[in-house]
Amino acid sequence: NKCCFLIAVALIPCVFAEMCRYPLGMTSGQIQDEDISASSQWSDSTAARFGRLDSDNGDGDGAWCPDIVSESDELKEYLQVDLLSLRFITLVGTQGRHADGMGNEFARRYRIKYSRDGRNWVGWQDRSGRQVIEGNRNAYDVVLKDLEPPIVARFVRFMPITDPSMIVCMRVELYGCEWLDGLMSYSIPDGHQMIYRGLDVFFNDSVYDGAAGERLAKGLGQLTDGTLGLDDFLHSHVHGVWPGYDYVGWSNKTFPKGYVEMIFEFDRIRNFTTMKVHCNNMFSRGVRLFRQVTCFFRSGSEWDADPVTFRPALEHLSQRAHLVSVPLGDHTARTIRCRFHFGGQWMLFSEVTFQSVFLKSQLFSGLLPEDPTHKVDDSKTRILIGCLVAIIAILATIIFIIMWRQVWQKMLEKASRRLLDEELTARLAIQTQAFSFHHSFQSSENSSTSTYERIYPLQADYQEPSNLIRKLPEFSQSTEHLGKPLRGKHDGSDAAPHYAEADIISLQESSDSGTFSITTFSTNLLAGSESFLREFPREKLTFKEKLGEGQFGEVHLCEAEGMKDFLDEDLSVEATGESPLLVAVKTLREDAKKNARNDFLKEIRIMSRLRDPNIVRLLAVCVDKEPLCMITEYMENGDLNQFLSHLFSCDFLFCSYSQMIAMAAQIASGMKYLSSLNFVHRDLATRNCLVGKNHTIKIADFGMSRNLYRGDYFRIQGRAVLPIRWMSWESILLGKFTMASDVWAFGVTLWEILTLCKQQPYSHLSDEQVIENTGEFFRDQGKQVYLPQPPCCPDGVYNNLMLSCWRRNAKERPSFQQIQTQLKESVA
Ligand code: AMP
Repeated sequence: NKCCFLIAVALIPCVFAEMCRYPLGMTSGQIQDEDISASSQWSDSTAARFGRLDSDNGDGDGAWCPDIVSESDELKEYLQVDLLSLRFITLVGTQGRHADGMGNEFARRYRIKYSRDGRNWVGWQDRSGRQVIEGNRNAYDVVLKDLEPPIVARFVRFMPITDPSMIVCMRVELYGCEWLDGLMSYSIPDGHQMIYRGLDVFFNDSVYDGAAGERLAKGLGQLTDGTLGLDDFLHSHVHGVWPGYDYVGWSNKTFPKGYVEMIFEFDRIRNFTTMKVHCNNMFSRGVRLFRQVTCFFRSGSEWDADPVTFRPALEHLSQRAHLVSVPLGDHTARTIRCRFHFGGQWMLFSEVTFQSVFLKSQLFSGLLPEDPTHKVDDSKTRILIGCLVAIIAILATIIFIIMWRQVWQKMLEKASRRLLDEELTARLAIQTQAFSFHHSFQSSENSSTSTYERIYPLQADYQEPSNLIRKLPEFSQSTEHLGKPLRGKHDGSDAAPHYAEADIISLQESSDSGTFSITTFSTNLLAGSESFLREFPREKLTFKEKLGEGQFGEVHLCEAEGMKDFLDEDLSVEATGESPLLVAVKTLREDAKKNARNDFLKEIRIMSRLRDPNIVRLLAVCVDKEPLCMITEYMENGDLNQFLSHLFSCDFLFCSYSQMIAMAAQIASGMKYLSSLNFVHRDLATRNCLVGKNHTIKIADFGMSRNLYRGDYFRIQGRAVLPIRWMSWESILLGKFTMASDVWAFGVTLWEILTLCKQQPYSHLSDEQVIENTGEFFRDQGKQVYLPQPPCCPDGVYNNLMLSCWRRNAKERPSFQQIQTQLKESVA
């Protein structure tokens, strides 16, 4: 039916917006990756090229997701599509990120900006002037939006409107057709107002996208919106608009020379055959076709000496609107200036279009025109085009055969694979790489002297599971099988060892390339989040004592002189009236590698957006120079693990069941807040919760949550140490980290609380056995073992709450809201 469309265009050269609704190539891949760009990306796997509607091809993370958006730059984030030539765009489609159930990110509202030349950008607005487009309501459905008025553009930007703390992801498609006219802009005197029998009739160009004023310049508008006016200019196809809406019109009283001058600018020099002008002719109301038109042509700086003049046959009998064809005599021009002489008191136009061909010398400087009326009469050129088409056809056939063979091979491989179902195998590949996300490692395959372990105080809680997983029968072959294609992109050699450190580093560096420098970082960091995050003068910090050691460096207790001025009114930090205030200062080790610095700064950005009574609050930062520091509220009772195990040893009775449940309920509340923002913590455990005054519990350590996307589809083999005893089976085996896997970790955390952190979870199992047990969860043959019921835990809490957090089916696990309610009920 594209063919029919082209024939229709050839016969009636007005572009009909209703017919022009072809997908422009995001889904099909016709638009190349390099023509899709974005203001920012959350990670490499959510780069712009993944923002293709309805395509979740597994290479990326399922969509384009910008980096975290702060209030001040919510409209700076965009996904840009370069269509390479001008297109008439009538419809847009958007979709969120679901990534097979792992994601739940989408843009509820967005705006569109477009440009024809890549320099001047215009914000699209509907006929009532509204710019905001209602987007998606869930991560799955495609939402289509008619662009009324349509736009003529080469570049289009989708700009999600977000809550600063919400992550948005988008996939998009554009629909329309080739803009055959090549018209870049027209300049006309703005239309006039008529009073017809006491009725105000407005003939202004209401959708003009250029500069306004008495004379409109550098834009397109109603004369090119693809909508022809009705015979009766008081009415319109469009609903809810004013009389005269379809037409741009002028009264001859204001034009003493008797004509209206219009200037048309084109994308390149063309040979013009015809101009078609759709005019009203309601002579009973003083409107008539133009009497005469004279067009001048310009290719360079001078106007040509031989204009074209044309007089349409004046129509006295029919008051119907007319499409007048003005022959332009194959004149060559890039700019056309036409003077339309009044045929009556009023002259009303609804559409102007042009038919042209490129100059032969320009045929190869841009896309070939699709218009069948284009005449290329040079036989050599024709032969050349024929040859090109033949070569393209042969190449397409070869590509098709290669792809077909690949698909066929894959099908055979799948058929021969034992035990594993398709999804599991694919996910496992992802998973073995997912473990590489955190740090670069110094270790060989068998040793475990990673940086992470070295500096992490509770190293026993974190394991490097990929070796262990390979011992599961289902996974022993598949890692081998899947290793090859996955490494290909970066090392290209089969001889390269698995888990090459260089791979990990090169990938991380490429994802973060060009971003590192203390000054750039700090400026950007604060610029994007003025309202939340402020630089604190480091000389006003006085060291008191070391509180602990973490993944990035040391944590110190400090006095902060003048910190009160940095606190918001709503801050739950108890401003005791003491000055200076005690704060915890987390410092990045000075020898930290680039990746660790980037992660430290990303953690700052994440934390700066989190505001909840049960989440540790970031108060300020010192990022002007090294060492980089984040200043958080001081939690005087340290981490929950140490707090509880200490109680156990000296004051068991002090901690009653209801107090333990109250602590767990606070954690559930903090997690409920995180899940409302679609944040996955990934490392929930008592060691990552801090205890303040009056047993206030706050969740800390967002070091792993930043990898929400990165981990899911990481494409390079690597390793990391992970808290396997807190992780759900699907996080370990499939690399799936979701809110439901956080719920699993909460179940383990609750178990820790109710056993007063007396022992590590599954302490009777070795790491290998924990992984084996995870395999049992996957196999689901009733052989999996659960953490035992703690002595003080009522049956109801164990059976209905704790065990429900470890259900095999992630969808059947409770939400944090439900957990909170159940905890409250258990002490009621
Ligand atoms: P982290 O790097 O966050 O894991 O911190 C390491 C240790 O420092 C924790 O286990 C706590 O004992 C201590 N710590 C961290 N942050 C704070 C804080 N805000 N208040 C008190 N102690 C803290």
